[in-house]
Amino acid sequence: MPSPKKPFRINVGFIAHEEIGRSHDFPFAFEKIVLGDDLELRNFDGIANIGRTPQGLVLQADFSAETTLMCVRCLQDFEHELDWSFTELYAFDKRSETESELILPEDAHIDLAEMLREYALLEVPISPICKPDCQGLCIECGQNLNEKDCGHHPEDNDSPFAKLKDLL
Ligand SMILES: [Zn+2]
Ligand SMILES: [Zn+2]
Repeated sequence: MPSPKKPFRINVGFIAHEEIGRSHDFPFAFEKIVLGDDLELRNFDGIANIGRTPQGLVLQADFSAETTLMCVRCLQDFEHELDWSFTELYAFDKRSETESELILPEDAHIDLAEMLREYALLEVPISPICKPDCQGLCIECGQNLNEKDCGHHPEDNDSPFAKLKDLL
């Protein structure tokens, strides 16, 4: 059983002693989990597959979860689905190290939490939008234009064409 404080810490020692090519699935599922201090995920689901290679243990991770983001246009919270996968090598020694510089620790326990978090954050959009056609907020009265039209059309007044119309 994984410890509740480190739910992503797994013992992979037995895989290191197996034949090259063998692999094992470690499934993870949480209704709600917080990665780091600030990444709250719901319906977290996925598999870490750990396989034996001559150079080390290869982790192939494939996860999905939901997180709450705020739309930059209408400022409403919305649910966003994250899907992310990645591959990393926990090398047996320095010679086989990859760019990530991961070495299989001597006790053969690896904690996937930090890596899961970093890769998940890459999937979070920098400017989240609740839906592609989000109408945003009225800049005059703040009305959420997805809910109703307040009747203001500031863009009409500000556009160069409106001024041109006044001149004519
Ligand atoms: Zn929106
Ligand atoms: Zn308005």
